[in-house]
Amino acid sequence: MNNNRIYLSSPHMGGLEKEYIKEAFDTNWIAPLGKNVDEFENEVLDYVKSKGALALSSGTSAIHLALKLLSISEGDYVFCSDLTFAASCNPILYEKGIPIFIDSEKDSWNMSYKALEKAFNFARENNKLPKAVIVVHLYGQSADMDNIKKICDEYKVPIIEDAAESLGAMYKGTMTGTIGKYGIYSFNGNKIITTSGGGMLISEDIESINKARFLATQARENKPYYQHKELGYNYRLSNVLAGIGRGQLRVLEDRIKKKKEIFCRYLDGFKKLKEISMMPIREYGSPNFWLSCIRINDNSKVNPKDIIDKLNEENIEARHIWKPMHMQPLYKKYMFFKEGDEAISEQIFKEGVCLPSDTKMTEEEQEKVISLVRRVIYKEKV
Ligand SMILES: *Cc1c(COP(=O)(O)O)cnc(C)c1O
Repeated sequence: MNNNRIYLSSPHMGGLEKEYIKEAFDTNWIAPLGKNVDEFENEVLDYVKSKGALALSSGTSAIHLALKLLSISEGDYVFCSDLTFAASCNPILYEKGIPIFIDSEKDSWNMSYKALEKAFNFARENNKLPKAVIVVHLYGQSADMDNIKKICDEYKVPIIEDAAESLGAMYKGTMTGTIGKYGIYSFNGNKIITTSGGGMLISEDIESINKARFLATQARENKPYYQHKELGYNYRLSNVLAGIGRGQLRVLEDRIKKKKEIFCRYLDGFKKLKEISMMPIREYGSPNFWLSCIRINDNSKVNPKDIIDKLNEENIEARHIWKPMHMQPLYKKYMFFKEGDEAISEQIFKEGVCLPSDTKMTEEEQEKVISLVRRVIYKEKV
């Protein structure tokens, strides 16, 4: 890695990770499972206050298992947030389901309950309700869960919370990932805490978690020989990586605090620029501020690419907002429901930039990012 580069969000070890890994080595519990995996599950449960957890090799595998537990199969509808990373909906296609995308609301960039209502009206009129709704908590901010849940409860359709980006973020005092029937977290390298790669499935329903554990461990029946009745997967997290996760959990609250400071510094740095607004934060929750994202005003002559290129010239990483699923070649043939005439997710994509939000970034480095963005807006020569 280039030490001078300022990153969007890179791994930030707390120091205790090595202790847990060392213990795994000392006891030769390198594999298959072991104490770190069990404790990592317990510690996450303690933190988010839920009942059942399953440590997995990725957030994507956690979403896949949640869909398996809900018996998603060929031709089933699954509703999903439109403005997200493709991993939110790829598992729907693994099971030959049919994704239907739901637009964002302007005020949080998360799933619009009004667009969700429209999709449900369509499904009801066609006598085919979705088997699940995948709600993403984008960039570390909770979606409007009361309004979304109210509609899903009315139709008795379970929610899978894709909390890959939002570990530690709350909705009205409850941890994201613990509100729906299932929740998933990701510990990929760029997330707020990381195991280098990993994920977790969460539910109050311990029986389902046990079923997922069985499926994730090659679906081996409890027999003295290898007996298989169901199709299984090799999705468990290794005991070494779970050790990294245990160390990372100890610094999660620090990371959230730091991410919030970064967000607030950008907010302050851009407050006089009418051309730029931060991702809006709704008052119902407390985000983990995983990524600080901006939107460039409509009538400004500047594109996201101008800012991204400028920062990149200075060895600073910035990125476009997730390109909405309904605009992806892989997904554009599927239905997409929006609140009104304009797709809000599309607007956000056209005007949005994710700015460096690395917790190792210094104040001076962030000030540099702010002044570079300002210069692009004012088209000053550096
Ligand atoms: C990162 C991410 C995932 C996938 O998690 P992995 O651990 O990388 O498989 C899923 N959904 C969203 C919204 C993500 O940001």
